[in-house]
Amino acid sequence: MAEETIFSKIIRREIPADILFQDDLVTAFRDISAQAPSHILIIPNHLIPSVNEVKASDEKALGRMVTVAAKLAAEEGIAEDGYRLIMNCNKHAGQEVFHIHMHLLGGEPLGRMLN
Ligand code: ADP
Repeated sequence: MAEETIFSKIIRREIPADILFQDDLVTAFRDISAQAPSHILIIPNHLIPSVNEVKASDEKALGRMVTVAAKLAAEEGIAEDGYRLIMNCNKHAGQEVFHIHMHLLGGEPLGRMLN
C-alpha cells in the first residue's frame, strides 16, 4: 500500500488549503509556494503515487484533471494568454509529494521549455 501524503489530508479537509474545486474524482487548490501569479495543483482524490503507477482504471480521474484545469484557467482569466500544465515524476523531475498532481501555472510569460 502506498503511503498517504499531506494531499490526502487536504482532500479530506483535515488541514487548511485554498480549495478552488472538488468533486467525486478530483480536488484543486492553490500551491502554497506559488511559482507564478496563478499556480494551482489538481489531484485525483484517490492516491496514485506517481505517473509510473497509473492504471487504466485511473483514466477517468486523469481526464477530469485536465477538464478541471481548463475550467480553472478560464476562471483565473489566463486561458486566452495561455498557461502550462506539468506533472513531475520521480527524482529527475523533482517530484517531492508522492500523490500525483498536475501543476497549472500562468498569469505571466513563462520561461521557455522544450522548444
Ligand atoms: P516540486 O516542488 O519540485 O515541483 P512536486 O512536483 O512534488 O515537486 O510539487 C509539490 C508541490 O506541492 C510544490 O509546488 C509545493 O509547493 C506544493 N505543496 C506542498 N505542500 C503543500 C500544501 N500543504 N498546500 C499547497 N501546496 C503544497
